[in-house]
Amino acid sequence: MTQMYYEDDADLSFLQDKKVAVIGYGSQGHAHALSLRDSGIDVRIGLAEGSKSAAKAEAEGLRVLSVADAAEEADVIMILTPDQVQAKVYEESIKDHLKAGDTLAFGHGFNIRYGFIKPPADVNVIMIAPKGPGHVVRREFEAGRGVPDLIAVEQDATGDAKQIALAWAKGVGGTRAGVIETTFTEETETDLFGEQAVLCGGASQLVQYGFETLTEAGYKPEIAYFEVLHELKLIVDLMVEGGISKQRWSVSDTAEFGDYVSGPRVITPEVKENMKAVLADIQNGAFADRFMNDQAAGAPEFKELRAKGEAHPIEETGRELRKLFSWMKSDDDYTEGAVAR
Ligand code: NDP
Ligand code: MG
Ligand code: MG
Repeated sequence: MTQMYYEDDADLSFLQDKKVAVIGYGSQGHAHALSLRDSGIDVRIGLAEGSKSAAKAEAEGLRVLSVADAAEEADVIMILTPDQVQAKVYEESIKDHLKAGDTLAFGHGFNIRYGFIKPPADVNVIMIAPKGPGHVVRREFEAGRGVPDLIAVEQDATGDAKQIALAWAKGVGGTRAGVIETTFTEETETDLFGEQAVLCGGASQLVQYGFETLTEAGYKPEIAYFEVLHELKLIVDLMVEGGISKQRWSVSDTAEFGDYVSGPRVITPEVKENMKAVLADIQNGAFADRFMNDQAAGAPEFKELRAKGEAHPIEETGRELRKLFSWMKSDDDYTEGAVAR
C-alpha cells in the first residue's frame, strides 16, 4: 500500500515563516486561501486588474494585490487561475518576481507536465492537488474534516520542498484525510484520463445516450431523467462508501443481475480500446495541444461544444424538474442555463 501522510507527518512551521500568495480566487483559489488563512498563514491574493473575484476576497478580509505585486512580496506562490491562462500569467506577472529559494506551487500539473511553464532551476516547484472541487475542499475544512490531497515535488531547490508541500496540505485540511505523494506526470495524466474517460466525458455521454434511448422509444423525458441522471448520484455514493460491491449489495437482485449481464453489453471491450486511445493522446500531448491551441484562437471549438452540450434535451427537462426539488440548493457561482460564461 502506498504511503499516506497525515497530520503528524506535516509541520505548518514550514509555511508560518513565509509569505504566501494565492494567484486566482476561484473554485480552488478561495478554498486554499481561506483555509490557509484560518490555519494561521500569512496569505495575500493576486488578481488581474478589474478582477470579478477581488470583491469576494476582500469581503473575507483578504488582501488583494496585482499578480506581480503578490508574487514580488511572497516566498510561496500558488497559481490557481484556470490552466489555460497560467502560462500567460506566469510570463507576464510572476517570472520576473521569483527570487532564488522561492516556491512555485500548482493545484494541477498540466502546465509543468506539458512544458507551458518552465521555471528557473533555483526555485522549488511543488503541487498540492486536492481530490475534490474547491467548494467541497472549503466546506470540509470548515467542518473540521478534509479532502485527500496529492502532493508532488518537481524541483527541490531548498531541500525542504516536500515539507513545504506537506505543510500546505495540512493548512488546507488535506492531512486530516490523507495525502499521497505523486509526480507531476502521474497526477496530470491520470487526472486528465479520469475526467475524460470516466468522470466527466464518460459519465456525461453515458447519461445522454441513456436519456436518448428512453425518450426516442416514447418514454416520458421526466421519467427518463430520474432513471438515468438523478439516481446516478445515489449509485455513485454507494460506490464511494463501499466500492462497486456495496452498490451491488444495496440494489435489488434484479438490478444486480442486470448489471452483470447488460453492463458489458453497453460498455464493450471496444470501449476499453477507445480509452487507451484517449490515454495515448494525453501521454503524447495531443490533447494538451488541442486544448491550448483552441484557447489561443479564442476557444471556438470549446465554445461550440459547450453550446451543443447545453442544448441537449436532457438539460431542459432537468431544469424544469429541479425547480420542484426544494431540497436541492444550486451553487452560488453557477447560473443554470447560462451558455455564455
Ligand atoms: P477557476 O476557473 O475557478 O479560477 C478562476 C479564478 O482565476 C478567478 O479568481 C479569476 O479571476 C482568476 N483568473 C482568471 N484569469 C486570470 C488572469 N489572467 N490573471 C489572474 N487571475 C485570473 O479555476 P479552478 O479553481 O477551477 O482551477 C484552478 C487550478 O486548480 C487549475 O490548475 C485546476 O486544474 C486545478 N484544480 C481545480 C479543481 C476544481 O475543483 N475546479 C480541482 C483540482 C484542481 P476573475 O474573477 O477576475 O475572472
Ligand atoms: Mg482535472
Ligand atoms: Mg430503477
